[in-house]
Amino acid sequence: MGGPTRFIADAMLGSLARKLRIFGFDTLYFRDGPDAELERIAKVEDRVILTSDRALFERSSGRGLPALMISGSSERARLESLLARSRAASLSLTPGGPRCALCNCVLERLNRAQVSGFLPDSMSRRHRVFYRCTACQKFYWKGGHWSRMRVLSSLMKRNPPAAP
Ligand SMILES: [Zn+2]
Repeated sequence: MGGPTRFIADAMLGSLARKLRIFGFDTLYFRDGPDAELERIAKVEDRVILTSDRALFERSSGRGLPALMISGSSERARLESLLARSRAASLSLTPGGPRCALCNCVLERLNRAQVSGFLPDSMSRRHRVFYRCTACQKFYWKGGHWSRMRVLSSLMKRNPPAAP
């Protein structure tokens, strides 16, 4: 699998999917539909299945599809579970550029001058690097959503994925 790691998350893992997008992982959220359809998309689009459903995990793995069984009741526990399982599966996680938490589209980087008029001055003065979703136009800036990004990168440093 070349390029950044891509995921497809099952219906139970919507908030994890949103985090992974911010962290730079192209993540489809499969809200509803038959498992066979989720598996078909994973296969065609070369996506790692994230699920908290053991039956789905076992079937997908049995068919040779890369899948990670995610456990944990808090956000942080789920992220740690994802890191531990990918390490155990010798799956290295390669993030790409940050993506929109809402729609999974690519974010464009903007400087302070480019956001003036779009965000309150008090906000644009406090931060230097901003991003805007190229699809839904939602703004992001370091410090808000990004504090969680640092949490993940520190976890990844502590638990580096195993080499393939
Ligand atoms: Zn968006």
